[in-house]
Formats: sequence, structure tokens, C-alpha cells
Amino acid sequence: MKGLATDGGLYVPAEEITPFTGKKLFADNYQELANIIFVPFLSDFDSSEIEGAISSAYNDNNFDHPLITPLHKLSGSLFVMELWHGPTYAFKDIALQILPHLLQTAVKKTGEKSEIVILTATSGDTGKSALEGFRDVSGTRIIVFFPEKGVSEVQKLQMTTQEGCNVVVAAVKGNFDDTQTGVKAIFNDHRLADQLANDGYRLSSANSINWGRLLPQIVYYFAAYNNLVGQGEIQPGDEINYVVPTGNFGNILAGYYARQLGLPVKRLICAANRNNVLSDFIKSGIYNSCRRLYATSSPSMDILISSNLERLLFTLNGRDPELLSSWMTDLSNHGEYRINRGTLDSIQNLFWSDYADDEETRQKIADTYRDFNYLIDTHTAVGKAVLDKYLALENDSCPAVILSTASPFKFTGSVMQALFGNNAVKNISELELLETLARETGIEVPANLAGLRYKPIRHKQVITSETMRDHLLYCLKPF
Ligand SMILES: *Cc1c(COP(=O)(O)O)cnc(C)c1O
Repeated sequence: MKGLATDGGLYVPAEEITPFTGKKLFADNYQELANIIFVPFLSDFDSSEIEGAISSAYNDNNFDHPLITPLHKLSGSLFVMELWHGPTYAFKDIALQILPHLLQTAVKKTGEKSEIVILTATSGDTGKSALEGFRDVSGTRIIVFFPEKGVSEVQKLQMTTQEGCNVVVAAVKGNFDDTQTGVKAIFNDHRLADQLANDGYRLSSANSINWGRLLPQIVYYFAAYNNLVGQGEIQPGDEINYVVPTGNFGNILAGYYARQLGLPVKRLICAANRNNVLSDFIKSGIYNSCRRLYATSSPSMDILISSNLERLLFTLNGRDPELLSSWMTDLSNHGEYRINRGTLDSIQNLFWSDYADDEETRQKIADTYRDFNYLIDTHTAVGKAVLDKYLALENDSCPAVILSTASPFKFTGSVMQALFGNNAVKNISELELLETLARETGIEVPANLAGLRYKPIRHKQVITSETMRDHLLYCLKPF
């Protein structure tokens, strides 16, 4: 329920994670696997509460594939795991479909009387995913602010047409930084918090430093492995590699936790875009965020400070809080820190990293479509490009699973441009491009995106970052 600790640190399990034993790693379906993995972590939830949350999240109303995270075989030992079969077609749905139910259960168990108000600033995927997760979940409200000029046409429509009786969506004049700054100011306003508490509300955030978003992500690493064993592609115990398009380090950290739980992971390949802070860090041990932030064709990875890395460093430095804290202080004071040799060695034993720029990304989308007749989005293409760099350097014949983090239809403009060139996208609206991409590839437009053009706009408010606080209070006023 707290998300961030009061001293600014991140929550981790109190004890070092140890491997599951024996055949407990295997289950018949995604839901059962989720249950096995959640039980030891949610030790104050009873089994019906855990099962209830799982069945409310991972069902065929919310996901359009029965396996939840199906694997697609590209060639001999190369697989893509599709993490985008949820309602908003990005991998964030896997966590944000269940987080509200975990939160709701936590509220009941702790006797919290206030209504939980989730407040989010979004540059695209997270806001919509959070809206879909929290809508109509009793005891919660969800308020999303997005930059009027900072999201794509489809992303904007996804949010302004949002249904649900507990949702507030408003555009904020300016760019993402203005929106983000406004939200931070609201979180730091202690008088406002007191006032809200009096009115029966408690502010919370759904961003990816919440432990409740990491835990659900561990499951699909096991699911991929189970599927490979089930299909006879590998034998139980064989090592495999995972390739993860990375931004805030949440997805790949779940892979690390999966390995700590005993999953036979050989390498976690961390794929970055032109904002290559992480790949520099994994190569050098120096984290340097003092650089320009580029807007790339894989916007969900345009990040200079990967918050969840802090959790990995804590485990790998021997759970030394003082040392970790000195690095994080350097980061906030100087924008840079350097880790010690031992920690760097542990990172390099498991992680490998490189990056791909927009041109390489476009090329990979086109190549993958041509060579394998398989369409990938820009984020997944960064993963494919980095895997190919890895394979060119390292003699590694282990099977590899690329985590596909978004449907190609979520980034139609870039995908169309990669396949058919600049003229194919010039002056054409994104809604139209959806149809064209479907026609050209013979793949159907995902239902919730196809339906966008027929949905009424329900949220028309445009406010300024100075009035976000008042807007929040207005929306929470009892009627
Ligand atoms: C959020 C996101 C990422 C980055 O994931 P992290 O957990 O922040 O590393 C990658 N791709 C897509 C499509 C995303 O939405």
C-alpha cells in the first residue's frame, strides 16, 4: 500500500530470495504458476485472497490469449514471448491488471478506512494500463494526468474515451515534465495529504517502483520456460537466455528474481535504445545520467534514471544499505555513481547489455518481418537488435526468449514507416494507419484499438499544471 518507503528507499523482501525446490517450478497453466510464485511473497494473504486476485486479473475478459503470455517460435532456438495480450496491448497490463486487486485486499486486511486514490502522470502506456486495471475496482479511484502535447493520437484517444465510474482523466498543458512536476508537487504537499485524509482519501501511486508491480512479472519468466519444456524444445534444467527491452529496469529485475527462485537463466540481456545509460553502466560500472534525453521510436524506454536498478544493486552488493545509499546520494547530488568491483563482477556474470538506435530498430522490424513473417513493435525490435549483437560477439547456442513488450499496433506509425517507408505514413492519421497496417499484413487490428474511432470522448478537460491540485480536490468532492 505504501509504494515508496518514507525514507525514500524501495521495498525489497526482508530475506534473501532462495530457490524453490524440485518440481514446484512447473504448473499446468499461467494462473496456477502465478499462485505458486505469489504464495511465499504474499505471506499475509490467505489462499482464497490470492486465488481471487489471480482469477480477477488473468481471465479471458482481460486477456485475448488463453496462455496469457504465449510464445512464438521465430526459428530453431529463438522465441518471442508476447506480453501484450492484455486490454491496452503493452506488457504493463500483466502487473496493472492484478495490482488493484492486491491493493484492495491489502486495504481490507489492514482495516484501512480511506479510499485509495491512485494518482499518475503518464507519457503514454502506464496511464492507460493503470486506468484499465483500476476502473470500477471498489475502494479505489484513479486519476490520470497526461501532457496535452506529449502523447500519440491513439494513446490520447485510449485515455479520453476511458470508461469506468471511478476514473478521472485530464490533459495538462505543456510537456511530460510539466505534468510530472505537478504530480510530484501534489505527492509532496503534506497539508493536502492531511486534508485528503480528513475527507477519507489516501493518495497512492501505481508506478513501477511499487513491489506489487514487480511480483506479477516474475511469473511469465517461468511461464516461458514451462512452455519450452512442454513443447519439447528444452529439457528441465537446461539454461536459457532472456532478452529484455529495458527502461525503468522493472521487467528485467523480475527476471533476476525468477533466477533467484531457481529458474535456469544463463543470461539476462538488457536492451536499451539510444538513451543507453544502462548499457554503459553494465559495461563500465559507472552510472552516468548527466546526458541529454533523446525522444526515440521506443518512447517507453526513454529514461535516464532506471529506478529499479537500486534493488538489484542492493542484492548484489551483499545487501549493504550504507554502500547503496552512498551510490544513490551520489546519483542525486552529482548525477553519477560508480559501483565497486565485486558488485560489477556479479552484474557482468549474469547481465549483458548493448543498445540500438532508431535506424537499427527500423531495420530490425523490416528484417524480422521479411525473414520470419512476424511483426514486432519498436521496443521488441530493440531487443532483437541487441540480441543479434550479442550473438555476433559471443559463441552462445542457448535458446533465447525475447520479451515482446508491446503490440506492433500500438506503435503503428513507426512500424509502418519501417516496413513501407516515409511516404507511407506522411500526413496520415494514426487511426487510418491502423487499418492500413492490418490490410498490408493480413493481421487484424486488436479489438480495443479498432473500436477507438467509435467511442465517445468522455474526458475533455484541459488544465494547467498549476491547477492540477484544485482539479484533484474538485474531482474528489463528495456529491
Ligand atoms: C514500460 C515499457 C518498457 C520498459 O520496461 P521497464 O520495466 O520500465 O524496464 C518497455 N517496453 C514497453 C512497451 C513498455 O511499455
